[in-house]
Amino acid sequence: MRLVKLILCGAALGFPLVMSPEALRAAKPDDIRHVLLITLDTTRADRLGCYGYAKALTPHLDGLAGRGVQFINAYAHVPLTLPSCCSILTGTLPLYHQVRNNGFYYLNDQIPTLAEAFLNAGYETSAFVASFTLDSRFGLDRGFDVYDDNFDQEEILKSFRSERIAGEVFDAFIPWLSENYEKKFFAWLHFFDPHLPYVPPPPFKEKFSDRKYDGEIAYMDSVIGMVLDKLKEKGILDKTLIIVVGDHGEALGEHQEIDHGLFLYEATMRVPLIFVHEKKLPRGAAVSAKVRLIDIMPTILELATIDVPMTVQGVSLLPWITGRKTEDLPVYLETFYPRENFGWSELIGLIDGFWKFIRAPRPELYDLKNDPKEADNLFQKAPSVSRRMIKKLQEIIERNARPAPASTRRPTSQDEEKLRSLGYLGAGGPTPQSDQPLPNPKEKIDDYLLLYRGHLMEGEGRFGLALDYYRELLRKNPDVPSHYVSVGFLLMKMDRTSDALELLEEARGKFPGSVLVLSRLMGFYLRSGRLEDALSVGQALLDHQPNDFDALFLSGSALAMLGKWDDALGHYFKALKIEPENKTLRHRYSYALAAVGRHEEALGSYDELKKEYPEDYSLDLDIGHIFVMTGRTEKAREVYKDASQRHPCADTYHAYAMFLGKTGAFREAVHWIKAYLAITQEKDTTRKTQAQASLAAWEKHIKLP
Ligand SMILES: [Zn+2]
Repeated sequence: MRLVKLILCGAALGFPLVMSPEALRAAKPDDIRHVLLITLDTTRADRLGCYGYAKALTPHLDGLAGRGVQFINAYAHVPLTLPSCCSILTGTLPLYHQVRNNGFYYLNDQIPTLAEAFLNAGYETSAFVASFTLDSRFGLDRGFDVYDDNFDQEEILKSFRSERIAGEVFDAFIPWLSENYEKKFFAWLHFFDPHLPYVPPPPFKEKFSDRKYDGEIAYMDSVIGMVLDKLKEKGILDKTLIIVVGDHGEALGEHQEIDHGLFLYEATMRVPLIFVHEKKLPRGAAVSAKVRLIDIMPTILELATIDVPMTVQGVSLLPWITGRKTEDLPVYLETFYPRENFGWSELIGLIDGFWKFIRAPRPELYDLKNDPKEADNLFQKAPSVSRRMIKKLQEIIERNARPAPASTRRPTSQDEEKLRSLGYLGAGGPTPQSDQPLPNPKEKIDDYLLLYRGHLMEGEGRFGLALDYYRELLRKNPDVPSHYVSVGFLLMKMDRTSDALELLEEARGKFPGSVLVLSRLMGFYLRSGRLEDALSVGQALLDHQPNDFDALFLSGSALAMLGKWDDALGHYFKALKIEPENKTLRHRYSYALAAVGRHEEALGSYDELKKEYPEDYSLDLDIGHIFVMTGRTEKAREVYKDASQRHPCADTYHAYAMFLGKTGAFREAVHWIKAYLAITQEKDTTRKTQAQASLAAWEKHIKLP
């Protein structure tokens, strides 16, 4: 069905099915009470049914296209999530918002956002995001009343879960919708499923066993169907402006690239873009002109009759929707991922009409009309076009760049591990322009593939193979600190701790100033129980950078393990100034407060945590412990009892039993310790052995006359 429509539209390219400007104006401004922005992570336009992919199973997205306006040629500016979402939500190019990469940047708070515009206009605003790359620490939460970026609890130096599936985003969104659907609202749903690894849930897993990427898109589409059903159920589907857009695509092996970020080819830059509003927008219209992510914000704001901030660099697409304009808009492209993660050259590009130019150590020029696969580089063969494109790109850069410095941050080791778990490999961050020419990413693709395959094998638990790939990479590039870290991490996973330490010590000798190497070496020492060594590396790190989060946090942890609570508290306190929202850190800080005898402050700090994480029973157990330490036995009893009722598990049963044992309530203690022993999965832990000993002792007490 959708294919037929596209063919029909193809005949009318540039003359889309339109609603007259009069009809558009006739709709009252207050018709748009609800705005729902849906971003589809890693979704190539050409993998949706409505974009002509016959094998797609995307009925809901296709249905939206049929009921709204579909942009056939929409482009992202950067093939990376955070920079792309910054362009969507500020209407500015990466040249202006200066968020060049995931992890190393945050959105400058001087740049107005779409959410702020709605907030100021009296709308309820909320966001439900599915990937750590959009965590509130990167600044996109500004303007949202609710910014739901909850992932699983952080576990330092263990594996991270840095994303959630579409169904979980849906589950988070629906209670908010139920409370707010009668009010004016702007909500943003971010679905991350098509991102690597491709693991669609059943039944898509079975149905798409040989096309897992398509399966993820099909699953995401099914959840979008559930969202639409909910809007319909609440009676607001026809009053809601829905915008669906991809943040970037996925290479799927084109130009040898596996995922996205490295290159600027069509596979990763061309994205789906659909606008739907049953009353204000035409049905089944298709616009073929090239448009951009920066144009989304001004279009939404014009439709909602809200002033567009002066900073916005995109244009409203309403003239294209009404057919008054048909010309292509010039598209600026860039990726700093090769430079910042691997030390290779960045790529800057421009699409102007059918021409695409990529500024690289070896520049590229493609005719997208006759060579959509970008196979024939015309840079030398069409010198006058090349010259014109270079000049125009330079003009765009000069006109749109923001002179202020970028807002950068150094990711913590936790951040880096989370990004790594999402497939963003390498490390480094913003690097100053150098006179040394950097390698062309295209010519380093073999190294990239070694790293990538290693990462993939590591993810599948095939550590031996992964090690072979990483070792080969290290052999070819002995001067890249992050490769040592990759091998080191893998060796730790393989329980080859002494090999890992030896390698990282070798790396420390080679790169004595490398913060990356030092912080990982410190973490490894800590994990292998060499606390004094960890502290000495931590001191070396702090000598370099007194405000290094990892050094402060890990030193605090080592000091706590050594029982030096005052010093631990001092380090945690400094770390909290850098990452005030870090939950693990806040928990440890609260614990340290109690350990140095500042019980009331500790209780206050735990209360704050409890408000945000009511389901985390480990907080209750600590609170109970503080009550015991301060002689408030009855309060402690309440807390332990309540925790074991609300969270029946080995931990709460054990804690309650031990408390009861200490108070002499042996009969009850026996009951709960037996409950613990019955369900615990532990083998021969100290806790279990001691619990068995306590049980025997308490039973003896009960039998005494
Ligand atoms: Zn993304």
